[in-house]
Formats: sequence, C-alpha cells, structure tokens
Amino acid sequence: MSYVDEVFDMVVEKNPVQPEFHQAVKEVLESLRVVIEANEEAYRKDALLERLVTPERQILFRVPWVDDKGQVQVNNGFRVQFNSAIGPYKGGLRLHPSVNLGIIKFLGFEQIFKNSLTGLPIGGGKGGSDFDPKGKSDREVMAFCQSFITELYKYIGADTDVPAGDIGTGAREIGYMYGQYKRLTGLYEGVLTGKGLTYGGSLARTEATGYGLLYLTEEMLKCNGKDIAGKTVAVSGSGNVAIYAVQKAQQLGAKVVTVSDSTGWIYDPEGIDVALLKEVKEVKRARLTEYAAARSSAQYHDKALEGTNQWIVKCDVALPCATQNELGLEDAKTLVENGVIAVAEGANMPTTLEATKYLQESGVLFCPGKAANAGGVATSALEMSQNSERLSWTFEEVDGKLKDIMVNIFHNLDAAAKKYGLDGDYVAGANIAGFLKVAEAMTAQGIV
Ligand code: NDP
Repeated sequence: MSYVDEVFDMVVEKNPVQPEFHQAVKEVLESLRVVIEANEEAYRKDALLERLVTPERQILFRVPWVDDKGQVQVNNGFRVQFNSAIGPYKGGLRLHPSVNLGIIKFLGFEQIFKNSLTGLPIGGGKGGSDFDPKGKSDREVMAFCQSFITELYKYIGADTDVPAGDIGTGAREIGYMYGQYKRLTGLYEGVLTGKGLTYGGSLARTEATGYGLLYLTEEMLKCNGKDIAGKTVAVSGSGNVAIYAVQKAQQLGAKVVTVSDSTGWIYDPEGIDVALLKEVKEVKRARLTEYAAARSSAQYHDKALEGTNQWIVKCDVALPCATQNELGLEDAKTLVENGVIAVAEGANMPTTLEATKYLQESGVLFCPGKAANAGGVATSALEMSQNSERLSWTFEEVDGKLKDIMVNIFHNLDAAAKKYGLDGDYVAGANIAGFLKVAEAMTAQGIV
C-alpha cells in the first residue's frame, strides 16, 4: 500500500466519527501524492505525514456561564494547536452549535497550508465552541466569552498562539475576549486579531477575506484570458466574508445577484444593495427577509419550503462564502449547465470532494478556500506586525499589501501545479505549495 493510503487509513481509524477531518485530509493527501511519492523513503522514515496529520496539542475544556435568567449553562470549548513549524499557531475561533472536535480539526489542518501559502510566518491552529451567539443578549455573550478565555488564556499568547474570528465570532466577541485576557494576564499584547480599531485592530481586517477572495479571483480570471468586470456573480452566505466579497466584486465591475443565510436566499437581478445588506446583517443582526422587504427588486426564497438554494441561479462566477459542504455534486452540475466559468471558495471547504472533481473535469476554474480565503489570516498577521511595532498602518497600506499577497498566492499555486505537470489544477497547486514549505521546516527542526 502506498504511504499516502496508509496514512489516510490511519487517520480514519484513529479519529472515528470525524468525517469533515477525514475529508480535509483526503483532499490534501490525494493532491500531494505526486510529491510524496517522489520523496517517499525520506518522508516515511521521518513519519512526516503521521506528524503532519496529528495535532501538536488539543485542548478541550468546559465553559460554564450564567444566562439572563440566572441559569447556569455549560458549553464545550476547543483549541487545536495543529502545527507550529513555520510560526506561532494562528487561526480563528468558531462559535456555532455544530462545532465539535472533528470540525475544529478539519479547520486547523486546512489552516496549516493556508497560512503557509500567505508567505507569512504563521503556523496552523483553530478553536471554538458549540455556543450559539444567535439570540443571546450582549451580557450573555460577554459571560460566555469571559469564561471561555478564563480557561484558554493559559495556552495562548502573542508569540505562541494568536486566535481570531470565524463564524459567530465578530468584533463584539473578540472585544470581550481581549478584555478578559488583559485582565487575567496584565498584558496589553497582540494575542487576538480582529480587534477594534481603538485597541490595536488593523484597518481593512474586516474587509480582508472578502476583498482578498476577489483579488485572487480577478487574477485567476486574468491569467486565463478573462475579466471579472461585467460578470454575473452568485454569492452564498451574508456574513463577514460574503458582505465584503459582494462589495469588492461590485467595485471591480461585476454584478452580484445572490446572497443567503441558513434559512433562505435572495435573488436580486438588479444587483445586491451592499449598504442595505450591511444594515440588515451588521447593524440589525436580522434575517434576509428584512432585505427583501426593503427592496422591490429582491426575491426571497425559503430553503426549507422550496428545497432550493442560490446555485440554481445562472451565473459566470460562483463564490461560496457560508460554510462547509454547501455546494454538492447536484449544485455543481447545475452551475456547469448554466455556464459557470469560475468557482472560488470564500468559506472553508464549502465544496464537496465530488463537486470539486466535477467542476474541475468540466473545465471550470476552481480555487480552493485555503488559497482564496487566505486574505483574512494574512491581514491578521499584518495586525500582529502592527501590534509588535506599536504602529497602525493606513487602510490603503494594508489593502495594498493584501492585494500583493493574494496575487502572489495565485502565482505560487499556479507555478506549483505547473511544476508537477498538473497545469490548471489549483487544488493540487495550493496543497503542494503550502505543504513544501511546512515539510522543509519540519524536517529542518528534527523530530519534534
Ligand atoms: P459569519 O458568521 O459572519 O457568516 C456566516 C454566514 O454563513 C451567515 O450568513 C450564516 O447564516 C451562514 N451559515 C453559517 N452556517 C451555516 C449553515 N450550517 N448552513 C447555511 N448557512 C450557514 O462567518 P464568516 O463570514 O466569518 O465565515 C464564513 C466562512 O468563511 C466560514 O467557512 C469561515 O470558516 C470562512 N472564513 C472566514 C474568515 C474570516 O475572516 N471571517 C477567514 C477565512 C475563512 P446565518 O446567519 O443564518 O447562520
């Protein structure tokens, strides 16, 4: 049996009931096969792949907090410190009822390669909790965040592990966590990113993932003789990544006609009104029905009632920006039938393995999340740099660096794919380019 297959079987056996983690490992190892087989003896002797798929440390803890009725609630807290070969662990904190150890491990594993691709010195980690901030008062969210950090603060620090936002963790949650960290340690340091601008946050961090997704998509299209301007774009999600993807796509001359949330989706043939979307989602924290109610050109579709999603809408470019496995094989077939030319992942692993394969075989340009959404973590690393030198850069400076990083990422993965005879396979290119740097650093640092 080949080394890749052996290690994948070991992952499934040793990590039962973690399908998302298995999926992420399979996707990466499959596309690394050509590199691994060329160096099999050395990698096998050093158990390099076994070390790569095994987190350096997994922290699981209880998070007790008191709700507004005086009732004690208990959630599960997680932090997986996956790989620190090229820098301190870096990765977000997801707050969502679906969070479990397997989800955090899949996200942490992906983060290793994403962070490597940015070219910045950051290792891979991820964390979170099954706490649901939706419908909670600010006081309840603060109680949860303070309890979460009261345990987690022992394991994080500006030079060891620097968490950030993710689904359910926005500026409010990061603020409460930072305040509690500072209170417990007495340290005013860059231990979390995504902070508010008055206490060490970076300009353009809020926009970074969505903007970065478009900078990379624009470059991918350009290098394939196409232009983003004038294209019709379908976006899923209506959170942080989706909102700023819509905004930048429209600034670049595309028309975005869909957004979604977990209950429904909007089709707006006139183009999504970003100001209204922000008002509904960022200010009112309301459902998309409110967007439809305020805009006559918008149609609202209830996912459960109709059994449909936004991928049935005809588009040139599809940008999944909500959550994992939200674009399956049937969706991919519909997109191809409707003439889609490019799919770039704003979310982490939103496309299933079968759908990815189908899109690639159908000649669709496909860029995986670990490259396409790396703008968020890259700008987080720029926030760390600003915190270390106690300076703040302008919006234009950060945005300019972000754009350079995204364009470089595309060229790195394109070159890696070409080098291994996989021209146009950007999934393989991203995994290979991300892996080689980490593997070299792990080898240089000995068996640790
Ligand atoms: P937000 O919480 O801001 O928004 C998430 C959006 O996705 C919401 O519209 C939400 O709808 C929808 N959504 C969440 N879970 C589901 C689900 N199970 N089914 C359908 N829709 C769902 O998160 P972000 O925008 O920050 O993150 C979106 C994705 O991007 C995630 O995969 C995240 O890991 C990834 N990402 C985020 C980065 C960042 O900088 N924020 C960086 C890199 C990747 P509803 O409100 O109804 O729940």
